[in-house]
Amino acid sequence: MKDKKTLAVVGCGFAGYTLIRRLASRVPELEVILVDPREAAVFLPLLPDVVAGNVSLDRLLFSLPEFCRRQRVTFINRSAERLDGERTLVLDNGKKVAFDYLVVACGMEPNFYGDERVRKVAFTLAGKDDARKLRARLQEVVGRGSGIPGWRDNTGRYPGLVGRDADGRFCPGVGISC
Ligand SMILES: Cc1cc2nc3c(=O)[nH]c(=O)nc-3n(C[C@H](O)[C@H](O)[C@H](O)COP(=O)(O)OP(=O)(O)OC[C@H]3O[C@@H](n4cnc5c(N)ncnc54)[C@H](O)[C@@H]3O)c2cc1C
Repeated sequence: MKDKKTLAVVGCGFAGYTLIRRLASRVPELEVILVDPREAAVFLPLLPDVVAGNVSLDRLLFSLPEFCRRQRVTFINRSAERLDGERTLVLDNGKKVAFDYLVVACGMEPNFYGDERVRKVAFTLAGKDDARKLRARLQEVVGRGSGIPGWRDNTGRYPGLVGRDADGRFCPGVGISC
């Protein structure tokens, strides 16, 4: 008979991280499994400073395999997709993880309230790739739009972060007509 109960934690952002820190060492009779597709978690509150160039992204990352090693937690570097029955998690590679207890702590996704056009052009800031993209765009805009003659793009538009779409609505990322 299995003597340890298994806790599966889906997601290691602030919620999953805090739960594991508080639980794993204090409840030795629990076997903890973390499922997260990321190798490194990001300290989100300082992400805008990465975009602004005040902080290097590397300083905001912490390694999940290392964290799990320290906490004696099994790390599965995959996405959880769905439940199979009441006690089995199915991963994106089709593998199954059996558990006794499950905590789903997989955060949020940006919400565009059903506006597809905004979704396509907007910059989001919910992770490290977003920060890289937004920083690159800002550098491009500042480079082109800093008073240097010829800063408009070849359609005569200022390639800004906020502008109007074809219907004249304000929209992030489409550029300002000048
Ligand atoms: C730019 C920015 C600045 C912020 N600043 C502040 C602040 O100053 N103060 C404050 O209190 N809050 C701030 N927040 C909000 C705060 O970061 C969030 O409330 C917090 O991160 C939510 O924690 P969470 O654990 O629920 O989710 P997250 O931190 O988003 O973590 C979710 C985790 O789940 C994983 N995951 C997602 N889907 C799956 C899946 N299918 N299977 C397995 N794993 C999955 C992800 O990889 C991730 O590791 C900020 C957020 C952002 C984006």
